Amino acid sequence: MKKHIVLLPGDGIGTEVIQSAKDVLEAVSAEFDHSFTFETHDIGGCAVDMHGTPLPESTITACKQADAVLLGAVGGPKWDGLPSHLRPEKGLLGIRKALNLFANLRPVKAFPKLLHASPLKESVVSGSDLLIVRELIGGLYFGTPSERSSDGQSVVDTLAYTKDEIVQIVDKAFQSATLRKGHLTSVDKANVLESSKFWREIVEEKRTQYPEVTVEHMLVDAAAMKLVTNPDAFDVIVTENMFGDILSDEASVLTGSLGMLPSASINEAGVGLYEPVHGSAPDIAGKGIANPLATILSAALMLRHSFQMDDEAQLIETAVQSVLDDGYHTADLQIENGQKVGTKEITDLIVELIKSKSATISILNCYV
Ligand code: NAD
Repeated sequence: MKKHIVLLPGDGIGTEVIQSAKDVLEAVSAEFDHSFTFETHDIGGCAVDMHGTPLPESTITACKQADAVLLGAVGGPKWDGLPSHLRPEKGLLGIRKALNLFANLRPVKAFPKLLHASPLKESVVSGSDLLIVRELIGGLYFGTPSERSSDGQSVVDTLAYTKDEIVQIVDKAFQSATLRKGHLTSVDKANVLESSKFWREIVEEKRTQYPEVTVEHMLVDAAAMKLVTNPDAFDVIVTENMFGDILSDEASVLTGSLGMLPSASINEAGVGLYEPVHGSAPDIAGKGIANPLATILSAALMLRHSFQMDDEAQLIETAVQSVLDDGYHTADLQIENGQKVGTKEITDLIVELIKSKSATISILNCYV
């Protein structure tokens, strides 16, 4: 399959972790006989330096023409004092808007070797493997300016959705559940909010199209509690923008490792922006010690959600797990009796595993 990928390394460790993800994607491309082509563009602080804006038109055009976009991170102290329209994060918000990314996907998986890094008991977090599907361009954060008001005595924010907007995100969540364990938890506040009652009705309508998916409705307060008491009970969670913002940050601390968290934001055409949850880590930039696993796992999400390459995505995820199981880790992670390695070393280990595992898969397939 031919796919064109735009790389937006951005600032700080962004360039290092994007190089790692590119190495891994090239290995997958070669092993599975795909043809991945890459094009690199500026965003964030480096774009301010080069083009006088954090989001050049050339970057927007290239992203719109790509099959998927992989982003590193933006920002750093060098650009902290700039006026707000030149701040690196404006580039990030701008590209999300330009691509009309309505769904944000945040998987959270507990890796056995890293359970000790969680602030929760190992017995609670062990086995957690969930995906939060958050509506990203509607809801409480996007009421039109005329619907927002504050006169010093009273204030109004608006939570509004059209049926189409809810159908779109709920459908994406059902599709995601079919690719996983087939269980969907729709999180709302239907005992109070009209928007949540409507949301529930739409989930009920949609479930008839996905009979293989089991569905459960949960109030957001109960979901917040269950995420830290029994995270293993979740497979896919779908929810409104603000609930999703809060729950995805809550869930992200389950694993206790910022360098391990990938994310995806997807539009109607299936084109996605894939990026690690962490920032540009200026304190370690250029030292060759950044953890590239969140970005490599974001590349796996890209293969699964934009290219429907589930075997390839799975292979990357298995390789990451194997490297950790073998005790290899970057400086930000601790593994008892493990071996600390740099960005390039851990990437090379994953690339080698992809080559050998893929060979094993093709040999096995010969006998099927
Ligand atoms: P950060 O995520 O960059 O770093 C927080 C801490 O985690 C640092 O000690 C850093 O060294 C460490 N860390 C983060 N990612 C790591 C990795 N992959 N490997 C090893 N260690 C890692 O957050 P911050 O320090 O608050 O922000 C730094 C800059 O990044 C700021 O300019 C901020 O605005 C920006 N930022 C960008 C994004 C993004 O591009 N999506 C997200 C968050 C922060």
